[in-house]
Amino acid sequence: MAGHDTAGAPFSPDTLAVVSGRPARVQGGPVNAPVVLTSTYVSQGVPGPEKLYARAGTETWEPFEEAVAGLEHAAHGVVFSSGMAAIAAALSSVRPGDAVVVPRHAYQVTLGLLDDMAARYGVEVRRVDVADTDAVVAALSGARLLWVESPTNPMLEVADLPALIAAAHEAGALVVVDNTFATPLGQRPLDLGADLVVHSVTKYLAGHSDVVLGIVVGNDESLVAAVRAYRTLHGAIAGPFEVWLALRGLRTLALRVRQSQATALELARRLAAHPGVAEVRHPGLPTDPGHERAARLMDGFGSIIGVRPHGGLAAADAVVAAVRLWVPATSLGGVESTLERRRRFTTESLTVPEDLLRLSVGIEDVEDLWRDLDQALRAVSR
Ligand SMILES: *Cc1c(COP(=O)(O)O)cnc(C)c1O
Repeated sequence: MAGHDTAGAPFSPDTLAVVSGRPARVQGGPVNAPVVLTSTYVSQGVPGPEKLYARAGTETWEPFEEAVAGLEHAAHGVVFSSGMAAIAAALSSVRPGDAVVVPRHAYQVTLGLLDDMAARYGVEVRRVDVADTDAVVAALSGARLLWVESPTNPMLEVADLPALIAAAHEAGALVVVDNTFATPLGQRPLDLGADLVVHSVTKYLAGHSDVVLGIVVGNDESLVAAVRAYRTLHGAIAGPFEVWLALRGLRTLALRVRQSQATALELARRLAAHPGVAEVRHPGLPTDPGHERAARLMDGFGSIIGVRPHGGLAAADAVVAAVRLWVPATSLGGVESTLERRRRFTTESLTVPEDLLRLSVGIEDVEDLWRDLDQALRAVSR
């Protein structure tokens, strides 16, 4: 098995990202899993456990599923055509009339899907401040499922994951964690007892802004079987090329995440002292409301920064227009640094400040990134 050395010691995540999901070591065999392009498999008579049809499973998915599952300390991974497809599958245990507790600040399309489920099936959506543990616990009574993002998108609130997971289980609720922002290098919610973890693979795991993919990982056989059945029934399956690209990207996850986190922390510190900046959110700053918790619960602080420039909405838009190296774009977690004003989306939560810029820090040189931000902020505040 790829997860351990010859003495049985588990590999570090850095090593796992490189070695897992490789074909067997055989003389003359390939080092990388091949891309298999087929919709169907040779099959006669009564089908057994072998592959049958590519909507139900392919040999191009398996190495990627194994690699992400290994990083999350999960027994199983189920890849999907997008993060949202993975999220829809992870929410499929919610029945009409069930209550779901969800952070008021979370990926806006996740919140949109829950609102859609409320309209269609009478699901009760209880929005909470996920950093306020007492408020979450109070909302859990009678709930079917607790959805957690931590740090949250885009406000970077940090949840007390161990306390929330324990309280949810005590209340009889399932816990699903969207671990896209922290990555499995930052935290492993399954180790804390979460039932399922989902990722937008589009972001850090693939890492190069060239694919849209998602994955659900977990240990509970029946929950994972339900997620896999949902994929086959609803058909939101990933293309083989995209999954191959994602596995290629995953090989450098540790390098990318370490570099972008170090740069993000340095930029956050400098931004906090910049005359053109009114407020900075980043869990790595000692003054940040989420700092103590993130330092205790996470390995690293992530590479997203929230910035509110002096001058409000117009200034925020002007900063986005004035950068030359940073890319004005939505999404995050790629090698290139991007930024956007979140409230330009009319669907973003109204409690997100309208002048909040979300910065996704990539792997470019820190001084190049800083000079570009600094000139943009100065040009705007002049
Ligand atoms: C982008 C994102 C998603 C959605 O993933 P897609 O791959 O775009 O469908 C879900 N959760 C978080 C936290 C995200 O950032």
